[in-house]
Amino acid sequence: MADCLFCGIAAGEIPSTKVYEDDLCVAFQDISPLAPTHFLVVPRKHLASAAAVTEEDAALVGHIFAVIAKLAAEQGFADGYRVVTNVGALAGQTVHHLHFHVLSGKELGSFN
Ligand code: AMP
Ligand code: ZN
Repeated sequence: MADCLFCGIAAGEIPSTKVYEDDLCVAFQDISPLAPTHFLVVPRKHLASAAAVTEEDAALVGHIFAVIAKLAAEQGFADGYRVVTNVGALAGQTVHHLHFHVLSGKELGSFN
């Protein structure tokens, strides 16, 4: 999608520090990390947020979670991490292309 930051990063048109990529998704370091490990995983397909996910995307979303589990094992933080996706401005979404934050390396606290 034109003028989408994460479409541009996925396509390699906008620089990022990639940690993984395949035909379906790209993972790259968050530019403003909130934990020692903080990267984002985005589908190459433009979806505005998790609210735009349909049954058609089931395999894609499952694949992204499998990639996250693989990266966690490879990078040695599989014992404790958090996966977050913000939906809408009220939840703090600032980039309107579906992305999963992967956070680890410090006490993350509780949401409740
Ligand atoms: P959210 O607030 O959930 O929409 O998350 C957007 C995330 O994208 C934030 O954590 C930002 O730090 C991150 N971000 C914004 N621009 C870039 C960029 N050019 N490269 C990497 N991460 C970015
Ligand atoms: Zn996009």
